[in-house]
Amino acid sequence: MLEELKKRVYDQNISLVSHGLVVLTWGNVSARDAETGLIVIKPSGVAYNTMKAEDMVVVDANGEVVEGHWRPSSDLPTHLYLYKQYPSLGGIVHTHSAYATAFAQSGRGIPAYGTTHADAFYGDVPCSRPLTNEEIDEAYEWNTGKVIAESVTDVEAIPAMLVKNHGVFTWGATPEKAVENAVTVEEVAKMALFTERLNPGAPKIEQHLLDKHYFRKHGKNAYYGQK
Ligand SMILES: [Zn+2]
Repeated sequence: MLEELKKRVYDQNISLVSHGLVVLTWGNVSARDAETGLIVIKPSGVAYNTMKAEDMVVVDANGEVVEGHWRPSSDLPTHLYLYKQYPSLGGIVHTHSAYATAFAQSGRGIPAYGTTHADAFYGDVPCSRPLTNEEIDEAYEWNTGKVIAESVTDVEAIPAMLVKNHGVFTWGATPEKAVENAVTVEEVAKMALFTERLNPGAPKIEQHLLDKHYFRKHGKNAYYGQK
């Protein structure tokens, strides 16, 4: 079932490691099959070096396992919440990549300082509020999805979010795009940290330049890349 999508989800999970975004088993990629609405996600706690494509778990929109011999990632409810909230999403990524997580642990979003940021994100990448004790005790992973959604202004324009004291979630129309956004958010977090180190008063990118870079790659007048 969904063998091709399982292979893609597997490949993207492995690519988190090769991109240096994940150590041990921290992190996960999922994808939603547009036709059936079923979700394919990494199994929980299986080491990347022994994991295979057939280990990916298929679940329905309520998280019931449809196929697979492992338990799904413990972060599944966060993914389910976001898929439910945003029908356009085809892939979601979660990492604790160090630079972006440093911003999350500081309770800060990532300011848009330059064009690298503006090429992918139309403005600052926000950081969520902390979860309440009740939210942590009751349905921690589901409520993590809820606090993410509270801070999302436009799911397409800023396809990334920091969860306070925790880490990074990114998404996209495909799992490949969601991973690309996870790579980008880590890189711009690193650049932002060095920018502030070199110039603590550095201003954000001018709106005019932000618009230029974002809209040459996104929207109906985009012209970047090959036709
Ligand atoms: Zn996490």
